[in-house]
Amino acid sequence: MAAKKFKLISAWRDPDEGLSVTNLRIIPEASLMNELQDLLDNNERWADAIKQEDPEFFAKLARQQTPEYLWIGCSDARVPANEIVGMLPGDLFVHRNVANVVLHTDLNCLSVIQYAVDVLKVKHILVTGHYGCGGVRASMQDRQFGLIDGWLRTIRDLYYENRDVLAQLPTEEERVDRMCELNVIQQVANVGHTSIVQNAWHRGQSLSIHGCIYGIKDGRWKSLNTTISGFEQLPPQYRLRPLGEA
Ligand SMILES: [Zn+2]
Repeated sequence: MAAKKFKLISAWRDPDEGLSVTNLRIIPEASLMNELQDLLDNNERWADAIKQEDPEFFAKLARQQTPEYLWIGCSDARVPANEIVGMLPGDLFVHRNVANVVLHTDLNCLSVIQYAVDVLKVKHILVTGHYGCGGVRASMQDRQFGLIDGWLRTIRDLYYENRDVLAQLPTEEERVDRMCELNVIQQVANVGHTSIVQNAWHRGQSLSIHGCIYGIKDGRWKSLNTTISGFEQLPPQYRLRPLGEA
């Protein structure tokens, strides 16, 4: 196999556009195309199929996205958001991270929620976990995986809080799956505790947060019956009055 020739430069510049990107390693386009050819071919077929069904589909999408749903799910490659619930691009606003965690210090996730709620005005937030989640499983083990351990730390706390109940389940698979459900319920609560969601409720905006879980083994997506859609479902200690209200 011929060695790939890389050109290492400290900055990439497009002289025509005046754009620059720092510390980019340029790979000749020909070798990149070989590695991605299958995906490029797939994409062409996919775009053609959609256009055949609705010639205006991409033109409409390019003008506007008006999703009613925000999906918060796991990064796991086996849990593709749109396909599971039979939706097309434009129908779901999506945020994914390892083990579908919602942390109050995560600027990424909070920015997604804020934009979805305040600007796109989604009506539903779907927190979707999945059975057999590797992130949840890692939070229950006594070994290190690296940087990810910190990200998963609040799931370990949840595992500790529920250790006695979980210990009564006969197999590790059942304990992991139950923890996957508990994690979803905790993340639903975390979304409800944000000032973003509570301010939407203060404004009278219709917004529900649902806890759902997906089974990789059978492809079924189900509700965990933990929907919250107003203050009365939150403990008083978590209810926040609007900013500036005495
Ligand atoms: Zn997962």
